[in-house]
Amino acid sequence: MTTSTTVRPLLATAQHRAPWTDRPWGVLHAAVEGAAETLCGQPSLTWPKFWRLTFRPGARDTCGACSAALRRHAG
Ligand SMILES: [Zn+2]
Repeated sequence: MTTSTTVRPLLATAQHRAPWTDRPWGVLHAAVEGAAETLCGQPSLTWPKFWRLTFRPGARDTCGACSAALRRHAG
């Protein structure tokens, strides 16, 4: 691991998009832009990205593992 002060955009992503909406269906995960996996290690390349949503750690319907990873990132 290298230490970097570069902050890359964090995406809100989910395995499915709710039909006819721009909303996630199910649990919302977080992924660093360009990464092939979510913060909790799930392959998210093909998942819909929700650019207009902000991933808020610990919020309702968000992934607990991603929230924990984000808190670790933030120090
Ligand atoms: Zn997750």
